[in-house]
Amino acid sequence: MTEKTIFQKILDGEIEGDILYEDDRCAVLRDINPQAPTHVLVVPRKPIPSLDHLTDEDEHLVGHLFTVAAKIASEEGLEGGYRTVFNCGPDANQTVPHIHLHVLGGRRMSWPPG
Ligand code: AMP
Repeated sequence: MTEKTIFQKILDGEIEGDILYEDDRCAVLRDINPQAPTHVLVVPRKPIPSLDHLTDEDEHLVGHLFTVAAKIASEEGLEGGYRTVFNCGPDANQTVPHIHLHVLGGRRMSWPPG
């Protein structure tokens, strides 16, 4: 059995996380190293290692993560807009092998991203 990721440990209540929303399919926590005034992570309870591991049965779940992201962005007052990001693999600097949707806002974003 592979070792639990940091996000799985937070979801399972084994270590503390700054969780601001939870439902039966995902949780939203504040990023420990925020890159914007608001930086939260929408994390599915299902431990999918990366976007490359998604299957057809995950399509509804991924849609749900975006719906939750929009709801949280609204609750966080990100009227000016926000950015959502899934990093996938080493070239994108994915560091935690458990998919998570970054939601960043509260400042003007640049493009292209670094
Ligand atoms: P990524 O590089 O896309 O895999 O993103 C992983 C994110 O998880 C980074 O932005 C980290 O700052 C964040 N992170 C790592 N450990 C924790 C933690 N214990 N609680 C909240 N966020 C974390």
